[in-house]
Parts: sequence; C-alpha cells; structure tokens
Amino acid sequence: MTRLRSVVERMHAYVPGEQPRGGPVVKLNTNENPYPPAPGVIAAVAACASADLRLYPDPSATALREAAARVYGLAPEQVLVGNGSDDLLTMLTRATVGADDVVVYPTPTYSLYDTLVTIQEGRSLTIPFPSDFSLPPALAFAEGRLLLLCNPNSPSGTCASVDAIAGLVESFDGVVVVDEAYVDFAPASSLPLLAGHDNLVVLRTFSKSFSLAGMRIGLAFGHPELLAGIAKVKDSYNVSRVAIAAGVAALEDYAWMERNVARIVATRAHLSKALTGLGYDVLPSAANFVLARRAGEDQAPAQARLRERGVLVRHFATPQLQDALRITVGTDAEIDRLLAELGKS
Ligand code: PMP
Repeated sequence: MTRLRSVVERMHAYVPGEQPRGGPVVKLNTNENPYPPAPGVIAAVAACASADLRLYPDPSATALREAAARVYGLAPEQVLVGNGSDDLLTMLTRATVGADDVVVYPTPTYSLYDTLVTIQEGRSLTIPFPSDFSLPPALAFAEGRLLLLCNPNSPSGTCASVDAIAGLVESFDGVVVVDEAYVDFAPASSLPLLAGHDNLVVLRTFSKSFSLAGMRIGLAFGHPELLAGIAKVKDSYNVSRVAIAAGVAALEDYAWMERNVARIVATRAHLSKALTGLGYDVLPSAANFVLARRAGEDQAPAQARLRERGVLVRHFATPQLQDALRITVGTDAEIDRLLAELGKS
C-alpha cells in the first residue's frame, strides 16, 4: 500500500544536474555564471546578517518588484517574485492546470515542465522541434490551458524571433509563458509583447546572467490581474529577506551583469568554433551554454571520461539527445581546460 497519490507514486522526479560536494572541478553542467555577483550584492547580503532575520520577509517582495519595475519599464503590479523561476513555474501550473488539462510545449526542452504538468495530473501535448530547433509550425494550431516556450531554449540554446512568438501569443487561447531564463545572452526579449497581450507571462531568473543561482530569485512579468490570480497559490513567504535584498542590489548594478554577459558571449563564440574543429555539430547558441552533437554517437562515455578528469558537462540519456553534450560557457581558462580534455579523448 502506498501513502502517496498514485500520480506521485508513478512519476519520475525531476533530476537536477550534479552539484559536487568537494574537490576541484570545472563545473560546466548546470549553466551557472563563472563570474561572481556584483560587489553591491555581496554587501547587501552581508547587511542582512542581523537580528532582523527573526522577522518574516515582505510576502510580496515589494522592494524587489519596485526595483524590477523601474529597470524593465513596467508597473510593480506587473511583477511577481519567486524563489527562483522554478517556483514561478510551479505557481503557474498550480494556478492554470487541473486534471486532464492540456499543456503544450515543443521538445526537447526544460524537463521540469513535464514534471510540473504530471503533478497537476494535466496532459502534456509535446510537439517535436525540427532538427534545426526552429519553432514547429504546428504550435500555431495548438490548443490548451498553457503554452510553455523556453526561449532561448534549453538544451539547444537556440532562440525564436519575437515576431514568431507574437504570432503564438495571438493564436493561443490559454496562457503563453515565455521562459527567458537565458535571454540576457540573446539578441531580444519578448517583454515588449506584454503591452497589448493579457495572456502572456515572461519569466526571468537571477541564476544565470546575474550570477545568483545560490540565492534563488525569479521574476514573472505579466498582466496585473493574471499575476494576482497566480499569486493566490504561492507560498506566503516564498522569497527570503536575504534574496529580496540581493535582487534589489543586483538590479542596481545592471552594468556588472552586462559586462559578465559580454565576456560569456565572447567565450561562447570561441567555444563553438573550437568544438566544430573537434568534429562536433554545434547549434547557434543564444544562451550561456552550447549543445554539441556528434550525430549517432552516444556521448555518455565522453561525459564520463570528462568527469573522471574533473570536468562536468551535461548529458541527457534520451533518444533525441544522447548524441549530444550540453556545455556551460565558463571562463576562458575553464573552456581551454575542457577543450584540452575533449581533444585527448
Ligand atoms: N528555466 C530554465 C529553462 C532553466 O534552465 C532553469 C534552470 N535550471 C530554470 C528555469 C530555473 O531557474 P531558477 O529556478 O534557478 O531561477
């Protein structure tokens, strides 16, 4: 006899990338930023170490919503804060997906989507990307409660145009979520589409471009009424006092983030070219990682060999991705080390 809901009993848990406990490793497996957060963020976090920690945080993270509204040219009511964007994805599915409701997304993509739909007992309608990862035309005819678009997509790194996304926001009846976890590394954002579209939610995270994966901060941008509805299902105090302070400080030094992004984009070009030289097909990336493929050749052994030599990259053991490695763009020195190890194998 199980004590769990049958859907939970049967489901596979989402599997995060490996987070090593010790030892020197070159960590290129979970798309973290190799550069530190802004000095002002470190100072703001340190300033939180006070007796005030006995007090709950502001349940709606007003200071961070106001700072984000200023930076992105929106009203605070158009911003919702999450404990990472994963928390916002959880809220979104909780608020919009009931038993047997359909959630549409192109695949392969961020595998948490499938987990969250399963927990809601919803139905995933997955539409395969073509081999160049352009948006599948069938998305234009899809119907459902929710359309999830990871843009730039993970693990491909590819990016759909804002015009193409605008078309989907108009054709889709339900809520369209554009997960922009990696958009600061890309040419354009869908944020301007918020004006005039009340069914669009744009998600951002501080885990990648702002170098704050350990802090857990995400933002959702959308129509005030839709966000107010979604906020009904959030944990009361979902973002800590420390995270709120860190998020505000990160936005106050936006230029720090932009400088780190520029360095990562330059290293990405070098990495993509060098991987091509090593015989990999590399998709054009608009993110802080690249997908490198050797058609028909399982990359699990290459990943294991790199791991033995202290270099972590991501491999997905699924039919569509088993011949690929997803490699986070690290510092130039880290990428040189990766390339040297890959060249040996
Ligand atoms: N969306 C995508 C596409 C991601 O890759 C990630 C990171 N795994 C997230 C959302 C979640 O990021 P976080 O919860 O750290 O904000």
